[in-house]
Amino acid sequence: MSRLDRFLSLDVENGVLRAEAGVSLSDILRLAVPKGWFLPTTPGTRFVTLGGAIANDVHGKNHHRTGSFGRHVRAIGLLRSDLGRLTVTPESDPSLFNSTIGGLGLTGVIEWVELRLSKIGGSYLDVEIIPYDDLDAFWALAEESADRFEHTVAWIDSTARGPRLGRGIFSRANWIGDGAYDSHDDESWKRVPIEAPEFVLNRWTVGAFNELYYRVNLAARGASPRHYTKFFYPLDAVKDWNKLYGRRGLMQYQCVVPRETQREAIPALLDVVTRSGRASFLAVLKTFGDLVSPGLLSFPRPGATLALDFPFRGNETLATMAQLDSILMAAGGALYPAKDGRISRELFQRSFPRWEQLAKDPAINSDFWRRVAE
Ligand SMILES: Cc1cc2nc3c(=O)[nH]c(=O)nc-3n(C[C@H](O)[C@H](O)[C@H](O)COP(=O)(O)OP(=O)(O)OC[C@H]3O[C@@H](n4cnc5c(N)ncnc54)[C@H](O)[C@@H]3O)c2cc1C
Repeated sequence: MSRLDRFLSLDVENGVLRAEAGVSLSDILRLAVPKGWFLPTTPGTRFVTLGGAIANDVHGKNHHRTGSFGRHVRAIGLLRSDLGRLTVTPESDPSLFNSTIGGLGLTGVIEWVELRLSKIGGSYLDVEIIPYDDLDAFWALAEESADRFEHTVAWIDSTARGPRLGRGIFSRANWIGDGAYDSHDDESWKRVPIEAPEFVLNRWTVGAFNELYYRVNLAARGASPRHYTKFFYPLDAVKDWNKLYGRRGLMQYQCVVPRETQREAIPALLDVVTRSGRASFLAVLKTFGDLVSPGLLSFPRPGATLALDFPFRGNETLATMAQLDSILMAAGGALYPAKDGRISRELFQRSFPRWEQLAKDPAINSDFWRRVAE
């Protein structure tokens, strides 16, 4: 769909953008930032399309303030095999609109989107870096920061055990309204040249990396201004970063657990990871807020989300993930389909109890849907 990449209109007064669905978030920012507008929320990479952002109803570091992407969509141009070309709004057809937000592309082809942007006073954020010792400290920081900071997230040292389980680096930020509207270019200045051999990522090297990362941030603690690319998109600066995981690549496991069970479930999940010795250097923990998405299959919900990258090692990795699934199901949590390649029918249906209401396009053929629903 990335060929469908024209901008259709931008209301600069009110921040309403209409664009074809293959336009990337990066392109939107290059257009909108100099005019004082930003995406209402953004995932950790700007190299996704508008259609993809809607199909997974993506979330960002400001979920506790603005909810997920789908809350800011005003209209969708949808092409269906049975109904033809439609303009779908929350008013015109709530059922089809809510099915399409987070609908994994199963409700038809999204041709264009009308999106409400967010006003910014400049392109820099005041970012505070706070190293913390354990999960109790994380919960306290998340709670204390929710009202005062628009963006919050933590990197977790997934090799830390025992009393230091869940230690990490908490970042929180607010926009600085200094009127400097510098956008970005997409030139990457670092590149991973070759696929790393599998032995490069083992429990010792990842442990050493995590220790180093923690210490570097310990030294960098405090507040400083950062451009939005550095704060929101650190991985986008490293071209082909996924090659670091070797030929077999990585699998990500991202789940959310409800607020009522998060304080038991998150340590239990981390405990499985540290014991397995398959920790990764990209483990992220964030609390979601209460703002509900219209999306029927939307992933974010009140609670805490944990994202873990595992170098793929075949059955060993799958066995670790199966252990995580059991804890997740007992905690009443959900797995994120955007990051998934293996979710079971049972876990999917428990994660998304309204799945049967999805207004699927009958002509769309999906292995995923056959596996989890049909
Ligand atoms: C480094 C990295 C960081 C990330 N961080 C986050 C994060 O912080 N939060 C988060 O929520 N997600 C995150 N993601 C996931 C990413 O935002 C989603 O997977 C997103 O949906 C990808 O969009 P895409 O345009 O690449 O679409 P694709 O990956 O090509 O497709 C994704 C889904 O969208 C559907 N789709 C795409 N275009 C259309 C269309 N025009 N019409 C109908 N269906 C369509 C596809 O069928 C598919 O189901 C991250 C991914 C990466 C690689």
